[in-house]
Amino acid sequence: MHPDLERVLFTPQQIQARIAEVAAEIERDYASRPGLVLAAVLKGSVFFLTDLCRALSLPLRLDFLAISSFSPGAGGGRVRIEKDLDLDISGQHVLLVEDIVDTGFTLRYLLETLSARRPESLQVCTLLDKTSRRLLPVPVHYRCFEIPDRFVVGYGLDYQQLYRNLPCLGILRSGIFRG
Ligand code: 5GP
Repeated sequence: MHPDLERVLFTPQQIQARIAEVAAEIERDYASRPGLVLAAVLKGSVFFLTDLCRALSLPLRLDFLAISSFSPGAGGGRVRIEKDLDLDISGQHVLLVEDIVDTGFTLRYLLETLSARRPESLQVCTLLDKTSRRLLPVPVHYRCFEIPDRFVVGYGLDYQQLYRNLPCLGILRSGIFRG
């Protein structure tokens, strides 16, 4: 285990096994909906996206967007798109691929922004979900893991841009994380 981790939450094997289960659900649900676009939020969801899409045999297209966000304070969370999708998603079946849903501010903003482009459908698939931290109700159609209110890194998730390359998902030691 990496010395900066307090404990491992999910091993690479557990992550892959769960992704296979979620991919099977997505395959079932999208079998009759041609033209799937997986829209992933950079950078945290990249590892998840690549494993998820390899577990899917449906025809699909990939696209990316990047956002910057500011912590939700008294004025609410603020999110801005830094890099937009390249594809026109109007009339497409879009599955938004997230690394983690926490308060829900980021997801709420993304859903409002993308649904204004009139996709045929818009659903959400997240690797991690901290449901106990939710401040805004947001729809999460597919989730790999529900996790406790602790700061998690690895498998794409960072702390100050580090730890993304850890193959497992783990809780960062509180001496290192200053949240
Ligand atoms: P929300 O807008 O739902 O509060 O926040 C979502 C964003 O917060 C995620 O995309 C991620 O950047 C960040 N975040 C929330 N919890 C964690 C965590 O445990 N680990 C990491 N690395 N990022 C987190």
